[in-house]
Amino acid sequence: MKGKRGLIMGVANDHSIAWAIAQELAKHGAELAFTYQGDAFGRRVKPLAEKIGTKLVLPCDVEDSASVASVFDTLKAEWGSLDFIVHAIGFSDKNELKGLYADTTRDNFVRTMVISCYSFTEVARHAAGMMNDGGSMLTLTYAGSVRVMPNYNVMGVAKAGLEASVRYLANDYGPRGIRVNGLSAGPVRTLAGAGIADARLMYTYQQRNSPLRRAIGPDEVGRSALYLLSDLSSAVTGEIHYVDSGYHVVSMPTLEELKR
Ligand code: NAD
Repeated sequence: MKGKRGLIMGVANDHSIAWAIAQELAKHGAELAFTYQGDAFGRRVKPLAEKIGTKLVLPCDVEDSASVASVFDTLKAEWGSLDFIVHAIGFSDKNELKGLYADTTRDNFVRTMVISCYSFTEVARHAAGMMNDGGSMLTLTYAGSVRVMPNYNVMGVAKAGLEASVRYLANDYGPRGIRVNGLSAGPVRTLAGAGIADARLMYTYQQRNSPLRRAIGPDEVGRSALYLLSDLSSAVTGEIHYVDSGYHVVSMPTLEELKR
């Protein structure tokens, strides 16, 4: 990644998936900029960024288009061009990440969609404007997009939209050599993950019932992200790449589990 510059969006703290990805990219020589959502997160993100020698740490709330535009104005002034972006942003009202999907309110549906789905399209449009020599864009998703997961509810619907966006954006920007992919991670213990009711039960269930019979580490997401953001994956675009110990291929719990 030496000589490549990229923007990392979605670090909240040192448990964030975006932080695991950033560390891996930095280890391989990439130059990074970070965004953070609000001052409270800023106080956590700035010292982390410093650890890997990054000075470009910018506020960004994706609910506000002007805030997104301002990040790219700064990047244009500082760097001129951009090679990759990581979008690791998601939000839904915690009160609706339990119970029935059918009870989702209109307000939370719209807010979840804007933050967790539309923001990737808006960010991709700005980023593509700075990618003069090809590039790679990556967003984070979860298998609740294609199958029903307890309590994931409206986030699953937003992730389905996000994954469709990956395919459309890949086709829009492919002719310019810009690749767009999604990484579908298995459960990782993070702030966002903790917002889902009974997340701990799902975590251990997937651990017991995935082909590898274990949870995934954030560092493993980092290494797969490195592949998708680097020239190692130069012909891969429009793809949803699972990093979930293989859980998405099984249709039933293990026999041990069934016999419990
Ligand atoms: P996290 O809480 O560390 O990161 C979520 C980030 O979203 C935070 O940095 C938060 O500031 C940001 N965010 C929320 N609303 C925002 C807004 N309005 N403007 C700007 N930023 C905003 O949790 P994480 O698990 O690392 O989540 C990163 C991504 O990974 C999310 O898209 C999540 O859905 C996805 N993901 C997580 C898991 C998991 O098990 N943790 C599994 C698969 C996919």
